[in-house]
Amino acid sequence: MDGWCRLPYGARMLADGKIALVTGGGSGIGRATAELFAAEGAAAVVVVDLTESGENSGPETVELVRKAGGTALFVRADVAVEAEMEAAVAVALAEFGRLDAAVNCAGVAGSGAKIADMALEEWNRVVGIDLTGTFLALKHEIRAMLPERAGTIVNIASAAGLVPVPYLSPYCSAKHGVLGLTKTAAKEYRNAGLRINAICPGVIDTPMIRASAAERPEVAKQSREASGANALGGGFVGRPEQIASAAVWLCSEGASFVNGESMVVDGGTVTR
Ligand code: NAP
Repeated sequence: MDGWCRLPYGARMLADGKIALVTGGGSGIGRATAELFAAEGAAAVVVVDLTESGENSGPETVELVRKAGGTALFVRADVAVEAEMEAAVAVALAEFGRLDAAVNCAGVAGSGAKIADMALEEWNRVVGIDLTGTFLALKHEIRAMLPERAGTIVNIASAAGLVPVPYLSPYCSAKHGVLGLTKTAAKEYRNAGLRINAICPGVIDTPMIRASAAERPEVAKQSREASGANALGGGFVGRPEQIASAAVWLCSEGASFVNGESMVVDGGTVTR
């Protein structure tokens, strides 16, 4: 971290003593969130991800947190497989005794095609990870938090959860769904002491966006032109830390009356 998040004059840190879990914590927004939880005083961060070694992997994030003086643990799990997600939350409880905060970042963009050309397999894959995977993470995180009657969860949706994005119908539909899921969860569990919010990032410079732009430049261009979104490097492109900052704040006491919110963090691209 470059110190931008540090609070002056010994102020209480945002994640003081919390046990936090981050899905998709090996890369991009999830990695920045795991690092920020630790920098803001979390007692431990559980990093859930698919990739078990190398660049942009869960273990690499754990190493970064540990080098900076924090405590972190990697658990390999596919968020789209209920038994694996359930086991990941169980590891957090077994190791650290409770779960105070969770940020669900795991996601994929999917390959681009218009709806008439979209393969059912690709639709099911993307919706399975981005929507059903978020549901499964949420389900088991809520179960872990209910006994304490306290806890905060943030689902990373997208600006694509609010506006259409041509050529990315599974992604766009899943992210719209994540917002409905988040609002429903917030209503269902507010009397149980939980807060559940979503963040809608704009274009953020992460491995996902770089890979999409590199692998499918024509689709990226057409989608961008059709939706009016900014090009990577050509407009308002955010950094993963800027989404992490919103996520860790939403999990903090400072956001104690914020519940069921879909917070847009995009530099003002999607204005409502
Ligand atoms: P990223 O760098 O690709 O990180 C996503 C992480 O999720 C990767 O570590 C990936 O692991 C992991 N993951 C994917 N499928 C998974 C699964 N089934 N189970 C567990 N982990 C899985 O992408 P990012 O840009 O940081 O995206 C994070 C979240 O922000 C996503 O939900 C994305 O939709 C959302 N978002 C991103 C942007 C943007 O412009 N970057 C904008 C709006 C919303 P592997 O690498 O091993 O597959």
